[in-house]
Amino acid sequence: MYDIIIIGSGAGGSIIAYKLADTGKRILIVERGDFVPVEKENWDSEEVFEKNRYTTTELWLDKHGKPFRPGMHYNVGGNTKFYGAALFRLREEDFKEIKHYGGISPAWPITYEDLKEYYLEAETLFHVHGKRGSDPTEPFDSEPYPNAPLPHEPRIQEIVDELQNYGLHPFELPIGVNFKPHETVNAPYILDRFDGFPDAAERKGDAHLCSLAKAMEYPNVDLMTNTKVLKINTDSSGSRVSEILVEQNGETKTISSDLLILCAGAINSAALLLESKNEHFPNGLANTSDQVGRNYMFHQNTALVALYTEPNPTKFGKTFGINDFYHANRGYEFPLGHIQMLGKSDEHQIKADSPVPAPGFTFELMAEHAVDFWLTSEDLPDPENRVTVEDGQIKISYTSNNEKGHHFLKSELIKALKESGKFENFLFKGIYFSKGMDIASPAHQNGTTRMGLAPQTSVLDIYCKTHDLENLYIVDGGFFVSSGAVNPALTIIAMALRVGEHLKNNVLKS
Ligand SMILES: Cc1cc2nc3c(=O)[nH]c(=O)nc-3n(C[C@H](O)[C@H](O)[C@H](O)COP(=O)(O)OP(=O)(O)OC[C@H]3O[C@@H](n4cnc5c(N)ncnc54)[C@H](O)[C@@H]3O)c2cc1C
Repeated sequence: MYDIIIIGSGAGGSIIAYKLADTGKRILIVERGDFVPVEKENWDSEEVFEKNRYTTTELWLDKHGKPFRPGMHYNVGGNTKFYGAALFRLREEDFKEIKHYGGISPAWPITYEDLKEYYLEAETLFHVHGKRGSDPTEPFDSEPYPNAPLPHEPRIQEIVDELQNYGLHPFELPIGVNFKPHETVNAPYILDRFDGFPDAAERKGDAHLCSLAKAMEYPNVDLMTNTKVLKINTDSSGSRVSEILVEQNGETKTISSDLLILCAGAINSAALLLESKNEHFPNGLANTSDQVGRNYMFHQNTALVALYTEPNPTKFGKTFGINDFYHANRGYEFPLGHIQMLGKSDEHQIKADSPVPAPGFTFELMAEHAVDFWLTSEDLPDPENRVTVEDGQIKISYTSNNEKGHHFLKSELIKALKESGKFENFLFKGIYFSKGMDIASPAHQNGTTRMGLAPQTSVLDIYCKTHDLENLYIVDGGFFVSSGAVNPALTIIAMALRVGEHLKNNVLKS
């Protein structure tokens, strides 16, 4: 019997564990995966991107019932072990209702101010490097980033200068990385193989290293790996969660606790609730609103690779972003979205994303000249975009929405690259290629257990407690009401810090 069980050790679960560790409560973290092995393949992009060595082999279904293998990582630290550690605050406006080309992005029941202090705590905990005020849309904070921004490598600096001359405002990308003393001068080499790779050198600011490892120093905190939660049971009254059913080494058993915090990620948390139906909750646990699994979002995302005549020998390109199109401006009636650099691609990454086969040297040549961008626009909550479970298999029914702004964003970037002086130097007169991310790339998943004031239309209250159950909280990407257009992890981390503090001060004390 534990006081608290936390399901999942990703961004949400690890931070909650960290925040609650010093309460003296008996805490168990249940994680379906293992520690990411430290091995030479950690740095091998063929293994990571072409052979998908670290993603689950589980198959999910799309809306037509066609199976696909999702780019999901089940391991200690969750997806943060592989993320790019671009750690953004949502903008103040993201918490309000905003009109988009595709419809309305709804208001949250909380404001930016409710998360502000936790964003700062999260940036400190995750060693974020950045330059406060350089991003024209970033909310004001008198506190600087905890660490100086990462330097641009020479080729990236050239592109920054060109875009600035063109009239855009490239800014220093906030990145979470924990350098050892004096290492920052060599940052590019140290951070080569970072975005999308596990970091065996343990400098990436991930949830395992920045929070779970600290929680594990407390004797009252246990971690159970390779243990999948199959079902959550309630007591006979149906008002409280009583135990979880887990599978470990092929055997099943139940473990009980007073408080349960579900942090399995937006998709798996929704699936687990739907699989946990009982006589009190015939449509799934915490689902009297019928909202569990609905409003699934994961952003409009495009990877765009521009091929210049001059080579790009950059090791770590992920040092700037562009938010000039984040809000409705520059002649656009509605928001377009956000642009950031990707980690420098190599031939294996380009091959993995190539729509057509080609000889290896083609990909090598392309990679030598490639400059890599990542474009993100908001997708809007739609109740028909949803996670369900069919015979134990996760099904993602998703129809893309709010695409127009994303198309404009892509056109604006291409125009900026062309007109900022170097596009005439693009190989073969202006080559770029791009790939929109489909449902098999659910990296930015969110929205499936959204928060709200009304129990009829939402799953969680403003402290991520389920409306339906006294002792069940959900702290992962599921709580998002709208997706914004920046990466989600810092908001999940900040919310976990906020919920942890609330539990400490108001729930566990009483
Ligand atoms: C390649 C990649 C790059 C990314 N880059 C960025 C970035 O630069 N910036 C950013 O902000 N975000 C980025 N993201 C997204 C970011 O990683 C996620 O937003 C974040 O990790 C989500 O946190 P979470 O707690 O909701 O879920 P997760 O981190 O996915 O954690 C969920 C955990 O629950 C476990 N679990 C699931 N089901 C069960 C079960 N039934 N029983 C037990 N355990 C279970 C999983 O194994 C996992 O460890 C990226 C993601 C990927 C994949």
